Amino acid sequence: MSPGYDELTCDFLIIGSGGAGLMAALHAYDLNPRLNIVVVAKGLVGKSGCTRLVQGGFNAALDPKDSVEKHFLDTVKGGAFLNNQDLAWALVSDAPEIIRKLETKVGVFFDRRPDGTIHQKAFAGQSFDRTVHRGDLTGIEIVSRLHDQLFARKITLIDETRALDLIPTKDGSGIAGALLLHQRTGAFTLARARTTLLATGGGPRMYKFSAPSIEKVGDGYAMAYRAGCDLVDMEMMQFHPTGILAGASRLSGMVLEEGLRGAGAYLLNAHGERFMQRYDPERMERATRDVVSRSAYIEIMEGRGTPAGGVYIDASHLGADFVAKTFPGMVRRCAEVGYDLTRRPVEVTPTAHFHMGGVAIDDRCRTAMPGLLVAGEDSGGVHGANRLGGNGVAESCVFGARAGVTAAQICSELDMHAVDASAVNTALDAALAPLTRPEGENPFAIRDRVQAVMWEDAGLVRSGPQLARARATLDELSDRALHCAAPNERRWNLAWQQVLDVRNLITVASLTARAAEHRTETRGSHARSDFAKRDDGRWLVNIHLQNDRIFEVPVVMTRLKPDAAVPA
Ligand SMILES: Cc1cc2nc3c(=O)[nH]c(=O)nc-3n(C[C@H](O)[C@H](O)[C@H](O)COP(=O)(O)OP(=O)(O)OC[C@H]3O[C@@H](n4cnc5c(N)ncnc54)[C@H](O)[C@@H]3O)c2cc1C
Repeated sequence: MSPGYDELTCDFLIIGSGGAGLMAALHAYDLNPRLNIVVVAKGLVGKSGCTRLVQGGFNAALDPKDSVEKHFLDTVKGGAFLNNQDLAWALVSDAPEIIRKLETKVGVFFDRRPDGTIHQKAFAGQSFDRTVHRGDLTGIEIVSRLHDQLFARKITLIDETRALDLIPTKDGSGIAGALLLHQRTGAFTLARARTTLLATGGGPRMYKFSAPSIEKVGDGYAMAYRAGCDLVDMEMMQFHPTGILAGASRLSGMVLEEGLRGAGAYLLNAHGERFMQRYDPERMERATRDVVSRSAYIEIMEGRGTPAGGVYIDASHLGADFVAKTFPGMVRRCAEVGYDLTRRPVEVTPTAHFHMGGVAIDDRCRTAMPGLLVAGEDSGGVHGANRLGGNGVAESCVFGARAGVTAAQICSELDMHAVDASAVNTALDAALAPLTRPEGENPFAIRDRVQAVMWEDAGLVRSGPQLARARATLDELSDRALHCAAPNERRWNLAWQQVLDVRNLITVASLTARAAEHRTETRGSHARSDFAKRDDGRWLVNIHLQNDRIFEVPVVMTRLKPDAAVPA
């Protein structure tokens, strides 16, 4: 017998309430207040996701001595020329206007200099200090003010509700909405929409140490892949160099922001050496994240790590007062797990932070699937092989705004399509199956195994044999995950939610390992010990994954080529 579900009909369904989801809602509504807009979030609307966790800040070329061209050059160089240059250009050229809108329309206050201009700080990989911030807790300010704005508008906000699958139209020509599961009650809703935006914020939680918020397990990538979307650059996984090492605490892996290194903090190995001297003597700790993370990893692997298997970040020479005043959030976070950031070194480890890969989109956030838009970390191509610090929240706000504008424009042109009812039933049956098994595999044990194998064999430095081993293990875990069981109780059933998470975690881990095995070179955040050099002759291509196929498409250099820091 097929279980029941409610139905909800809207013009614009937004899945995810981070920077991308909230900006999309605001922009769509303000262009067309008659639109029926629904925002659903797996966590609490306005309190979930990673935009809220943004510490360091938002990159935008505001200073007359800076320019969007310089920001673009930094972004594409940082991305090792793998970026979709049209998307990167959209990012840098919209960012200044979005900062102004956030201040004047949304009510965000960024830090200012004594002369009244917006303060901008240094972040790694930048040729100009262009990171706009609110202390070291910028994301809370942005998301809270956006949330306030949505309250003032007629927009439906639905908390603690996860999208399970995108639902195709009956004629298979596009996406007609999504099947939702309300985690508090265990009830299902079929949300039908003219346009659906996927903005679940990616989330590389398939690694032993990772920084994203707890509910983000790559649901968006997995749903999009199952629906037949094209995913690009999935091998490009960014590790942040300074995740706190705090034993079994949930804070292990949480990031200490890049502004610390920008302000002059040192990275030290267990012998007290500033080890970046060995790897990037010119930029030292201000080298890009990929370089710093890999350097720390090598130090640890070569036996110069701390007893707990990390390195140290030391800001004590900057002066306790300066550190306490400039980084109050980081000081508090360290104190919670027993460290004094103002006076002593703190033990840190590289931590999985951001997935550069994602769903292929155009510069209006459209996918090849009619009815489906994607924005924020769920999309791929903006950052190429490595994201610059400060470009992440810029991406979610810029492309969230663009998605909102696109939705407002196309919603009136699109019909409400009939849904493929068999797809709804398949998704429902798959979701409910674990509750019908009296016993079976433990989803938490499978999750731990996925995280261990990804850390060991598909992590900061990978090789062909390691990746083949990772893929074989993931295949085996995928089979086991089909037999997971959870207690037969729908309300707030964490084991059941974990089964649903683990399925997506394995899908995303497998896509990552497959693309990483395919790319036989080292570029940006993708380091192969068996192919240690960047190879522009062979690998200036994006790797795409779609419907079980893997294929390459040459990078389109619409503005800049690697051999010339001048327009192409
Ligand atoms: C600790 C940390 C610090 C960071 N600091 C910076 C920084 O200083 N500067 C910078 O530029 N970038 C930073 N980033 C990166 C930045 O946070 C992200 O690039 C960006 O915020 C992603 O925004 P988003 O809107 O795509 O997703 P998010 O803000 O992560 O929002 C995702 C939303 O989707 C919801 N969701 C997830 N799955 C589902 C589902 N199945 N169904 C329904 N809803 C779902 C979540 O609950 C959440 O509401 C940081 C990231 C982390 C983890």
